[in-house]
Amino acid sequence: MDDSPTTIPKHTPLVRMQSVGKVFTTKTVETQALADIDLVLERGEYLRVEGPSGCGKSTLLSLMGLLDQASFGEYALGGVPVAGLSLTRRAALRNRFLGFVFQSFNLVPQMTIVENVELPLRYRAGVGKAERRERAMALLDRVGIAPRAEHYPAQLSGGQQQRAALARALIGKPLLVLADEPTGNLDSVASAKVMELIAESHADGAAVCVVSHDATYAHMADRTLRLDQGRIVGG
Ligand code: ADP
Ligand code: MG
Repeated sequence: MDDSPTTIPKHTPLVRMQSVGKVFTTKTVETQALADIDLVLERGEYLRVEGPSGCGKSTLLSLMGLLDQASFGEYALGGVPVAGLSLTRRAALRNRFLGFVFQSFNLVPQMTIVENVELPLRYRAGVGKAERRERAMALLDRVGIAPRAEHYPAQLSGGQQQRAALARALIGKPLLVLADEPTGNLDSVASAKVMELIAESHADGAAVCVVSHDATYAHMADRTLRLDQGRIVGG
C-alpha cells in the first residue's frame, strides 16, 4: 500500500537540498556532475537554471525530479527525505507532485495525443476514465491543440508536441513543473508559446524550475541559478 503524503504542509519548502553531490562512475571515468549543492525552492517560485553544456543542469533536474539519486548530501521533497525511499514511493511522489517537460518531448509514439496527456492520471487512484478524458481535453484546449487530440505525436509539429507534453505535465496538478531545455528543439514562435504556457502554470500557483541557456525568457523567472562545473556559482 502506498502511504505517500498527498499534501505538503504550507510552509515547508518544496525542495531542500543540502550539500548535494552526484558522481557518475563508469568503467574508466568518474565524473563529479554536481558538488555542494545547497538549494531551497519555495512553493510557487519560478527558478531558472543556466550554465554551459555539461555543467550539471540536467543532473540537477533529475535529482530534483526523483529520476535519479544523489551520491551525497540530503534532499527533502516537501519535507520528506527522499534518500531511503523505495522505488514505489519515489514514483508515487513523482506522480503526485511533479510534472516534467523535456527538450525532446518524450511523448509515447504509439499513443494518441490525448492518451499521452491522460497517462499520469492512470496511476492516480480515484480518477475514472471519463474524468481523465475530460481533464485531458480541457488541457489540450488550454494549450491550443484540442483538434489534434486523436493524432499521433509524429503527426504534430515540434511545437505542438511540446504543448502536448506540457499538458501531460500539468494534468496531475503538480506543485512543481520541471522543464529541461523545453525550447531546445523549437523555433522562436513555438518557443514563445511554450514559455508563455509555463508562465501561466506558474501564475496558477505551480513552482517551476526551467533549465535553459536561452536568455530570452530569463525575465520570467523569480531567480536564476548559475551552475559551472557542477557547482552553484551565482543566483
Ligand atoms: P548539462 O545538462 O548541464 O549539459 P549534465 O547534467 O547532462 O549537464 O551532465 C553533467 C556531467 O555529468 C557531464 O560531464 C556529463 O557527461 C556527466 N553525466 C551526465 N549523465 C551521466 C551518466 N548517466 N553517466 C555518466 N556521466 C554522466
Ligand atoms: Mg542537459
